[in-house]
Amino acid sequence: MNHSLPGLFPEELETLVASLGEPAYRGRQVFEWIHRHGVLTPQDMTNLPRGLRDRLIASNSEEVRRLVSVDGLTSKLLLRLHDGQEIEAVQMNTETGRKTICVSTQAGCAIGCVFCVTGQFGFARNLEAGEVVEQVLRFATVERPVTNVVFMGMGEPLANYDEALRAIRLLTHPLGLHLGARRITLSTSGLVPQMRQLAAEGFQIGLAVSLHAPNDDLRSRLMPINKRWPIAEVIAAADHYAERTGRRVSYEYTLMAGVNDSSELASELVELLHGRLCHVNLIPLNPTQDPSLHASSADRALTFERRLREGGVPATIRVNRGRDILAACGQLRLAEKKRGRMAV
Ligand code: SAH
Ligand code: SF4
Repeated sequence: MNHSLPGLFPEELETLVASLGEPAYRGRQVFEWIHRHGVLTPQDMTNLPRGLRDRLIASNSEEVRRLVSVDGLTSKLLLRLHDGQEIEAVQMNTETGRKTICVSTQAGCAIGCVFCVTGQFGFARNLEAGEVVEQVLRFATVERPVTNVVFMGMGEPLANYDEALRAIRLLTHPLGLHLGARRITLSTSGLVPQMRQLAAEGFQIGLAVSLHAPNDDLRSRLMPINKRWPIAEVIAAADHYAERTGRRVSYEYTLMAGVNDSSELASELVELLHGRLCHVNLIPLNPTQDPSLHASSADRALTFERRLREGGVPATIRVNRGRDILAACGQLRLAEKKRGRMAV
């Protein structure tokens, strides 16, 4: 894959500038401009000679829309890439100073989960590492540095394994943002071979597994990937990840009224996860295109959570933030499409 400037490591940038007749150390300067200072416009890389700046293109993408939630804590960015693909990134701040960026790893997604707006769009292409890192850099400010990155936007990161890993190496690079690996979380629908491959990388990144159902019958209906990699294999791979990294795995469980939120299913989930080094995140369903899917009531969600906790499985209902700016995965892109602004 051909990488744009934000997708290159210092050594590669050194080779690139050398091919343009510049001394190698300029490559390292370009890396620092992009990854440490978040500068994507070569003309703003003020310590580079003008001739070099004129020949560099750090990014071809453009911001289509940037929305900020009423409380000011959540913002969302719609980016148009060089080939017209549109992707979303979300920033979530907390009052305690945490600043988490949620990045997309693919334009669309081939996994096709029934409750996911992105999945219902189908798959367009993989993003390259620079396109992933750029989403983070566009939210970086001097006053408020990025503290966490989650690979939970559009797409299945483990289906774009090499570029997702490259993005992680760039985000943790000491000359760049230098994020701690423990501050990065990757979410997967359960691609078992890649989960095992990731465990072998020796990274300390967090792993989240999208479960959404405690049995194969239901999970296969919600997530077609389950027919390829059923629950037992996914959980074995997650256990292996926890063992290798010493990190607790999170299971994502989106609560859908009348679909997967009964007390019986909560008990089944306890049976499944009891005694494991894990945590369950209960997510209220964000609106989808399917009129038959609704978020569970608050009551139902609380009962479900209580069942898990009583059964010894740590669980938390995740707060749904940024609803007013369509912060959930795929929603802004969908809204733009409806407004007729998109050619997808
Ligand atoms: N493809 C990866 C990562 C991106 S999706 C994965 O599926 O894990 C990030 C999370 O959002 C996943 O847990 C996914 O199941 C969940 N999700 C997708 N659509 C949703 C919706 N409409 N409401 C709530 N959560 C949703
Ligand atoms: Fe793809 Fe994740 Fe959406 Fe499923 S939930 S379709 S894996 S992005």
